[in-house]
Amino acid sequence: MPKEIEVKTILNKTKRRDPWFLDDYTLNLYSSCSFNCLYCYIRGSKYGENLEDSISAKINGIELLEKQLHLKAKKNQYGIIVVSSATDPYLKLEEQYRLTLQALELIAYYKFPVHIITKSDLVVRDLDILHEIDKTAILPSDLSTKLDRGTIISFSFSTLNDQIAKIFEPGATLPSQRLEAFKTIKDNGFLSGISLMPLIPYISDTSENLHLFFKTFRDLSADYVMPATITLWGDDRGDSKTLVLNAIKKQFPELQEKYEKLFKNSSELPYYYRKAFYEKMNELSREYGIKDRIVDI
Ligand code: SF4
Repeated sequence: MPKEIEVKTILNKTKRRDPWFLDDYTLNLYSSCSFNCLYCYIRGSKYGENLEDSISAKINGIELLEKQLHLKAKKNQYGIIVVSSATDPYLKLEEQYRLTLQALELIAYYKFPVHIITKSDLVVRDLDILHEIDKTAILPSDLSTKLDRGTIISFSFSTLNDQIAKIFEPGATLPSQRLEAFKTIKDNGFLSGISLMPLIPYISDTSENLHLFFKTFRDLSADYVMPATITLWGDDRGDSKTLVLNAIKKQFPELQEKYEKLFKNSSELPYYYRKAFYEKMNELSREYGIKDRIVDI
């Protein structure tokens, strides 16, 4: 049985809109994340080694959201709501609690635009309400000349290989199922693309794999592919750096030395690596004709 918690606020205004995710607001209806990605940026002592153990549903979230959306709409403070930024909106738990679905119904009622970011295929359950938001949302005035859609859906991948995904994102929907969901979303005409955040050094960012990513997403008509390198923190048992390095040691011992060098003194990959990575991504973006942003802002 997951924990049920009450929170004081649910819709958070961001300090400034991120150029990749376009978030004016973020909405996290669950705390922690059962997808349990080893590289997850929310990891740390707060959640422990297995993120699933600390999962909770914010049971007063919908009531709070109604109040907050009502106020924001009254003041004409329309903005894109990112669902979600610190968990996945379509965890297994969502089948039972339906907090994301209820939130989308409110978002549609108050005419706010949304950006769904997920690793799950459960998003296809909500096509009707996402279509309604897509058609009727009021966009923030500074974006209205650049964007004419109320719904954006991004699927997140770190690999296309189901076996590798089982190692690095053990609780998430398999990439093969995610791809099927992405296909359905595109067949339904949504503005939808891919967040390759993060790619796994020497495993999913090899030249062969990068071409496979771009070819696959171009063939499925992705509107954008947004890549990023990995960042790993911490030396405690539940920290992302510890967990990823342990997985490399066990599953890819031939890469252990390389990883130790890469992350010895830093949470970020060395400058030379990041520079080469982004140059390669720009090249692939041009070669396959896929944008690297949802919109340029
Ligand atoms: S799906 Fe996102 S929030 Fe959930 S564990 Fe993975 S990286 Fe973290």
